[in-house]
Amino acid sequence: MSRTSLVWIFVATFVVHVTWVVSTQTAKPAGPLRIAKVKGDLHMISGEGGNVAVYVTGEGVVLVDDMFDRNHADILTQVKSVTDKPLKYVLNTHQHDDHAGGDFKMLPIAEVIAHKNARANLVDIKQPYYEDTPGTPIGLPRVTFSDEASVHLGGKEVRAKYFGRGHTSGDAVVYFPELKVIHTGDLFLGRQAGRGAAAAQTRPPGVNIYVDYAQGGSFLEWTKTLDGVLTLDFDTVIPGHGPVSTKDDVAKFRADLETMRNRLAGLIKQGTSKESVVKTLETDYGWRSTGCPPSPPTPGCLQFQQADALMAELKR
Ligand SMILES: [Zn+2]
Repeated sequence: MSRTSLVWIFVATFVVHVTWVVSTQTAKPAGPLRIAKVKGDLHMISGEGGNVAVYVTGEGVVLVDDMFDRNHADILTQVKSVTDKPLKYVLNTHQHDDHAGGDFKMLPIAEVIAHKNARANLVDIKQPYYEDTPGTPIGLPRVTFSDEASVHLGGKEVRAKYFGRGHTSGDAVVYFPELKVIHTGDLFLGRQAGRGAAAAQTRPPGVNIYVDYAQGGSFLEWTKTLDGVLTLDFDTVIPGHGPVSTKDDVAKFRADLETMRNRLAGLIKQGTSKESVVKTLETDYGWRSTGCPPSPPTPGCLQFQQADALMAELKR
């Protein structure tokens, strides 16, 4: 066999391998979605990834978040099930691909708006990049804001607000003033009633969260950011994940986060070892340092550099 043929066999094998890797990484099938009315003309799509808000106005539809890339077609189907109006705007609560993974496919059909830090995080793709599906095409929002941005459509307003760092450096809270509803992204996670809640009652007050340190998140500033959120006049909450909740649920989440964080910070400042802090998180709060999925980062999971970064931040 000639050298040229060997080279071509090598190249062909490589191409087949790359194609196989790409197709297996993107082959995850989209899960079933459902849509339910939250209040007035506001609906919520859930079932996979982060919760999507659907706000219907006489001039078109505003979405908050767009789940994974793979959910795009079903999201459009769910929207069509409640209105004939065209999709006009998508607001991102942050850049994680279970919330903004659909941006690439939304850009040709809608204006996508995000906090400037969320867009910067998408540009940088700092590692570990929070993504469920490596290789997902990244869509960069064309419009960004610093403190606040409003979409006025069909006589209704949707207001994105930035209150500071928490889950990432670019978490937007989206406010529907006429309805007194907010979408918090992953700054707040709805807690399920039932068995998990019963188990949680026997534990000290705490929360399952993921602080994305690689993309500017902060455990210390998270409560201050939620204090800003709580100044808004609202009664109903679409969380990043979990069931529709209330303002009291957000206040309780904020209080539990602070109690847990202060206890951990106390232990760390006393010189408690990382192993011992991790053990406390596991036994008292139900966090996990093993058995977590390789990706994406998961609330209550000490993946990647989470334990080290948490120790470093709470030492201050
Ligand atoms: Zn997230």
